[in-house]
Parts: sequence; structure tokens; C-alpha cells
Amino acid sequence: MKTLAATRPDALTGLRIGGFQSFTTLDFPGRMAAVVFLQGCPLRCVYCHNPELIQPRRSTAFRWTGIRERLERRRGLLEAIVFSGGEPLAQAQLSDALRQVREMGFATGLHTSGVLPDRLARLDGLLDWVGLDIKAPFNRYGAVTGLDGSGVRAKASLDHLAERGTPHEIRVTVWPDLIGPAEIIEIADQASSRSCQDFVLQECRHPYTGKALGGQVFSDAVLLEELKARFPGFKVRRA
Ligand code: SF4
Repeated sequence: MKTLAATRPDALTGLRIGGFQSFTTLDFPGRMAAVVFLQGCPLRCVYCHNPELIQPRRSTAFRWTGIRERLERRRGLLEAIVFSGGEPLAQAQLSDALRQVREMGFATGLHTSGVLPDRLARLDGLLDWVGLDIKAPFNRYGAVTGLDGSGVRAKASLDHLAERGTPHEIRVTVWPDLIGPAEIIEIADQASSRSCQDFVLQECRHPYTGKALGGQVFSDAVLLEELKARFPGFKVRRA
């Protein structure tokens, strides 16, 4: 008679993983980290740099058991594991994966667009750091993300992180046609009014040509000084 192999309770067979980066010093400030990219995203950003991660059901070769084994072998070498995407909050098993990572002794990080604020709130106590993309002034979000109403949700996530005191960084990716100095100041007003400390302007690459797009904001000395004065952790990340 055929016997079914028991599934390990920590296997998280429902977690859909689109990629894995075994080492980075750029994705969790001040920590040596690995990044697990989760599959699926409800947004359609004009500049999306990971389009292969958007479809939630795309078949991939990555399994959580394999990733777990690799992380086990790197205990003592890595300090943190970051879940990125896609939009990692779209997957219900993220909380179990975070618990397992914590049990292995790693700090936990999340990269998110913040469009699923209720799911973010359910992770209270499981996150050591969050990188929150703020894509536009909240009332003009749809122009960047393709999803009307997404700004209201991102605002709720920012509120939640500020209220909980979860360490976080606000990242603004500059799509030059839509984001100029006035838009940056609007976003900075929202962030500084919630006592945000770390604010990053990120240069964007064109999704088809790969060309770095720059933009007026990166050479606007007045704007850059203003941001430096407001945020102790202000940074510019060129593509
Ligand atoms: S949130 Fe990220 S993964 Fe989703 S569409 Fe926007 S850029 Fe792409």
C-alpha cells in the first residue's frame, strides 16, 4: 500500500516564493541580510522593476523548505532576513515565515507598498524593521500604481507604523513625469508629521530600457537641504 509522506509542519507549502538573494548589505539598514522575494502584487506601478513577481500563481523553482535549509546553514553569518516582493503582505503564510525566521535567531525585515494595512497590522510584534514605499502624494496614487484608492491604504500603513513605533524607512521612487519637488515635499510633510526619521529618494530605471531616469529632484539643492534638515536618516539612492 502506498503511504503518503508527512508534510513537515514548518514546510509552509502555500508560501509562493519568486526569488532569493543570499546576501545583501543594502536591504536592511546596518545588517547583513538575505532577501526572500514573495510572488504576487495587487499593484501595477508604471516603473515596476520586478514584473515577473506580479502574477500570484506563477510557477517557480523556490520552496520554503529549501530556503529554510539555506538560512539554517548561514546562522551566525547573516543577521537579518527581509521579505520583499511583489507585495509580501499579499500572502497569508508570511506571518508563519516571520515566526520561523525569528526562531532561527534572525532579525526580520519587510519591504512593502503598504496597500494591505490590515495585514500589516496583523504582523505587530513580528517585524524589526519596515521599508515602506510611498509612491506619490496620497490623493494621486492611482497615477503611479494603477489602483484607485491605494493611497488611502498606504496612508493607513504609514499611520500604523508611526503609532506602533516600528522602525521604518520611507522610500520614494522618483518617476520624473509624475514626481517632482512639489510632490516630494507633500510626501515629506506627511512623513515628518508622523516623526519619521529615515527618508530615501530613489532613482528609477526605465522598466524597458533599463536607463536611469534621474529627475529634477536629484539636482535640486534647496529640496535636498530641506529633506536633510527634516530627516536625520535622509539618503539619496541613485540607480
Ligand atoms: S509594488 Fe513593487 S512589485 Fe508591485 S507593481 Fe509596484 S513596483 Fe511592482
